[in-house]
Amino acid sequence: MADAKSILAPWAHAWREEHVTKELQTLINLANWDLYYGPTLPGDSDETADYPGFTTACKRIADALDDLPSSLYVDDQSSDCYSESEPEPEECPTCEGTGTPESNGQVDDDGEDLECPDCCGRGQFEPGEYWRFDRRDLKVAIVGKELAGYV
Ligand SMILES: [Zn+2]
Repeated sequence: MADAKSILAPWAHAWREEHVTKELQTLINLANWDLYYGPTLPGDSDETADYPGFTTACKRIADALDDLPSSLYVDDQSSDCYSESEPEPEECPTCEGTGTPESNGQVDDDGEDLECPDCCGRGQFEPGEYWRFDRRDLKVAIVGKELAGYV
């Protein structure tokens, strides 16, 4: 059974690539460190020199997370496949949604139009199973469970 973290991993990777700068990722890492171990930061490297303190760091991170979608739908079968809007049934292209392909003009023994063979007369394909995540889940995926409570 897949868990939310692995289901969200491809999306989280792509979102970080696009929205999380190196500076922001450093800030997220340091704020996480601060949260777990207190404000005594590791070493005195250049990375930690600019750390503005937990409150300011959280505010900057929260600002950056403004761009997160309010919800995300991820395909149960392929987590590379995700969308910010709810998946909708797709119209069957063979019969154009009617369930009976006009072009073949065939009727069955009772004189009824034949069902479209591609969609079995339904006229559409239901979306497969998918996961729905809300903004809070997405925050957790980007900054971690603990820090997500603060940003
Ligand atoms: Zn059809």
